[in-house]
Amino acid sequence: MKNILIIVMALAIVTLAVSTLFAQKKSNGKPIIGISSYSENGKVQLNLPYVKSVRAAGGIALVIPVTCDEEQIEAVLDHIDGLVMTGGDDVDPQIFGEQPHPRLGAVGPERDRFDIMLIQKALKKGLPIMGICRGEQLLNVAMGGTMIQDIPSQVQGAIKHRQDGPRNYASHAIKIEKGSLAYKCFGSDSTSVNSFHHQAVAKLAPGLKVTAVAPDGVIEIIEKIGDEKVFGVQFHPEGFVAEGDMRFLPLFKHLVEMSSK
Ligand code: MN
Repeated sequence: MKNILIIVMALAIVTLAVSTLFAQKKSNGKPIIGISSYSENGKVQLNLPYVKSVRAAGGIALVIPVTCDEEQIEAVLDHIDGLVMTGGDDVDPQIFGEQPHPRLGAVGPERDRFDIMLIQKALKKGLPIMGICRGEQLLNVAMGGTMIQDIPSQVQGAIKHRQDGPRNYASHAIKIEKGSLAYKCFGSDSTSVNSFHHQAVAKLAPGLKVTAVAPDGVIEIIEKIGDEKVFGVQFHPEGFVAEGDMRFLPLFKHLVEMSSK
């Protein structure tokens, strides 16, 4: 009897220690969501809508400054529960084995390295990841995929993916795969999204699947096969949430929910 009691007590202590270990990153039960930044003119830069969206979904937003220092990246990853990879400049095509197309825009080697390291290390740790625009493209590249360097010159019959309207204006339709995470978030097999890109996912990386496309076939949502924690969208859901339009909030809520486990 005494032995059983000791075993039960020991188990209780171990359970408590393990749960404390896993719970220590969260702040008051809210998950800490790291958001990738970039640097410009000697400053760390991040568009506030990403921060607002993470907060609106119930997460604690934490800005991750650009660095190629592995120790810095790993230490930050040890302190977050989920990750948002943000939008930005073009990706250096040499990373996925191509030479620059004449219409390739500005590239930033430091940010490319930072983003890829962040994604690969986060994947290894099993952290939830939401990629947005460039972040979605980098998720694919970091896992071994390739990119369309310039949609207007490389996609036949392409629609306009660089809209002139405001950030919270949905300029083109997307078709969503039934049964996907995106379908669950929107409760529909079609919706309209904003569009501020001239690049897109080309060859999909192993382990990813396409769950939404534009009418011209351009990939708009990707998800990791068998793992709803990792996904990317080509559009900018934060552009709506930051303006009080909550139609794409479910994507951020999903990330926060996955990061709360
Ligand atoms: Mn688009």
